[in-house]
Amino acid sequence: MRPRLGIYIHIPFCASKCSYCDFYSLANCENAMPDYQKALIAHMEESADAIKNYEVDSVYFGGGTPSFYGAGRIIELFDTLKLNGNVRLDAEVTVECNPDSMTYAELKKLRQEGVNRLSIGVQASDNDLLRLIGRRHTFQQAVRAFQEARRAGFDNLSIDLIYGLPSQTKSDWADSLSKVLELHPEHISCYGLKLEEGTRMYEEYKGSPILPSEDEQADMYSYAAELLERYGYRQYEISNFAAPGFESKHNLKYWNLDDYMGFGPGAHSCVGNLRYSFVRDLKQYMAGIRRKTSILDEYQQVEPLERAVEYLMLAMRTSRGVSEEDYRKRTQSDWKPIHKALRAFRTKGWAEETDGRWHFTVPGYLISNTLIGILLEVQSSGRAAGIPWFTPEEKPEKKIVLPQSEEEIFSELYARQIQKEDADG
Ligand code: SF4
Repeated sequence: MRPRLGIYIHIPFCASKCSYCDFYSLANCENAMPDYQKALIAHMEESADAIKNYEVDSVYFGGGTPSFYGAGRIIELFDTLKLNGNVRLDAEVTVECNPDSMTYAELKKLRQEGVNRLSIGVQASDNDLLRLIGRRHTFQQAVRAFQEARRAGFDNLSIDLIYGLPSQTKSDWADSLSKVLELHPEHISCYGLKLEEGTRMYEEYKGSPILPSEDEQADMYSYAAELLERYGYRQYEISNFAAPGFESKHNLKYWNLDDYMGFGPGAHSCVGNLRYSFVRDLKQYMAGIRRKTSILDEYQQVEPLERAVEYLMLAMRTSRGVSEEDYRKRTQSDWKPIHKALRAFRTKGWAEETDGRWHFTVPGYLISNTLIGILLEVQSSGRAAGIPWFTPEEKPEKKIVLPQSEEEIFSELYARQIQKEDADG
């Protein structure tokens, strides 16, 4: 049996640029679409030998705004892939859409040609907020687009929301969630706003008091996690919630370190121990394909040790987490220090063990960067032994509310221990 593969196709075109966006996407470049289509088709044809070694079980058209690129082009790309690879009949095929470029006729075409999942950028329910962040649609348009997608036959729909937007209150956020829940999507992604340098929003709002504070963002996150859980959505990754059986197969590949190949400028690939990405420049990408010159941006052969780091980092983002057996098999590393650290996290209410698998709790997800950082330290140095609160005898505390600055105390303790060990030689 051939191994499985995910395919990601990047569509870097948008009708206009949202003020918070730092994805590789371009506005007012529609003229380049026909040439880009040719370049992508040529790239996929050239890669046929590599793709044919696998069975493709997920295809993801991301962007940018694939729905703005048009159903006709998406279908042509999907047909090219089917001709040049073994796409499974039960493959998950997702297209990212924005409400202002979704029409019933186009959606129907996509559905008829085998697209079976849409990921719709809704972001918020308040029209003033939507305008403020540069979205081109109202919430009412988003609702209509969602309903048209249902009418076109889609029974697997995902909605993206953002919290922590400028001037957004917790009640605005609660309103977004409850209005989206009324639509009954199968999947909801909730992303916290990050001000990325180089975006319009960064220039306009850096240091602004109308941006929700970290604590307020954390509060919005916990609220969403608890509410969505109550409505039957399982949190299967830090930012992703799904009705049972509707977890995104494609996204899970990223977190499980499974194989995927990307096409398009800026697209990343992970194939066995190879990691590579293509230039984040449309013209360079198209010229490279045309002239058969390199379009690689980064290329790296990952050593087993780095793979162990990647595995831990990504697996702990998911609710599946890690088990001793998986960890030993995938990393060939000592489980004991990791286990000790996880037990310590449990005493703080940050991690739990379910059926032999360790994963973060909601308060743990809130500080997951710090906790994963500590696990990586422990993994690389095996220095857990001797840290006072790393004792298995400690009973887990029942609390799930993260006390203020607990994270700092934890990091300090850890840093002090490392210093002591270094001083002791
Ligand atoms: S539609 Fe998406 S990709 Fe395009 S600018 Fe907005 S956030 Fe970025």
